[in-house]
Amino acid sequence: MSELVYERVQRGLSDLKLARVTEVLDQLAEDASRQQQTYLEFLDHLLSEEQAARHQRRVAMKTKLAHFPYTKTLEQFDFSFQPSIDERRVRELATLRFVANGENLILLGPPGVGKTHLAVALGVQAVAQGCNPYFITVPELLELLERDAKEGRLQQRMRALCKPGLLILDEMGYLPINQMAAHFLFQLVARRYEKGSILITSNKSYGQWGEIFADNVLASALLDRLLHHSTTINIRGQSYRLREKRKAGVFQEPGDLLPDPGPESERG
Ligand code: ADP
Ligand code: MG
Repeated sequence: MSELVYERVQRGLSDLKLARVTEVLDQLAEDASRQQQTYLEFLDHLLSEEQAARHQRRVAMKTKLAHFPYTKTLEQFDFSFQPSIDERRVRELATLRFVANGENLILLGPPGVGKTHLAVALGVQAVAQGCNPYFITVPELLELLERDAKEGRLQQRMRALCKPGLLILDEMGYLPINQMAAHFLFQLVARRYEKGSILITSNKSYGQWGEIFADNVLASALLDRLLHHSTTINIRGQSYRLREKRKAGVFQEPGDLLPDPGPESERG
């Protein structure tokens, strides 16, 4: 390639924002000539490099925007530890057909059984498939709503929470939900109804949701919409966190209270 052509190509790549091709051009051009690749094969390699780099960038950006507390995958989930979970059902959920159909998913169970892990893993899967998930804990949301209400920004918050393809509300049930927040959540569920999926995790059974919300009628209206097109996974089993502590010999009897809650709280 003459100096002039090379410079023109570099300028063209920069104009077209083909950053990855710019990086690998020299190496791939050398490989192509050494391996006597056809023009099409060479072009194929260049395009693949650019596509892969863009996919990675998109995944990194969406992962950041998703606001996950940590990154965990389904592969890291030990199904044998939690036999009450039907692995096949979770794998089916991981195809994200429920997200495409605007259906909801509710994971119920006591602390430490893997609700947040599974919610994040499905969120990670959603990112890989090009969806925009958003993760927020209910206590976090309640705090935001208090502030929004004072600043008259509740409608903006509502619009923002209607946008993600999958909204993950973690830890429903640890804090009581006041009238204002209950109304907001009802509206949110109603607005996303049959359009945008919601994934909720909770340590409370549906029967106890009336206690979480200050308003029993509102709670049942919310549940009515939430559960109409939905899947519930009821996890019954031991806390994975406690198992790790038990293995480390922090305590002996399953009924023992933890002497030290450790860096991670025992909240679900
Ligand atoms: P929950 O939200 O139900 O309270 P978490 O999902 O936060 O529980 O799980 C607590 C910790 O234990 C996390 O670090 C999680 O990754 C891990 N964990 C829970 N269940 C499993 C499991 N079956 N296999 C592997 N790790 C697990
Ligand atoms: Mg949790």
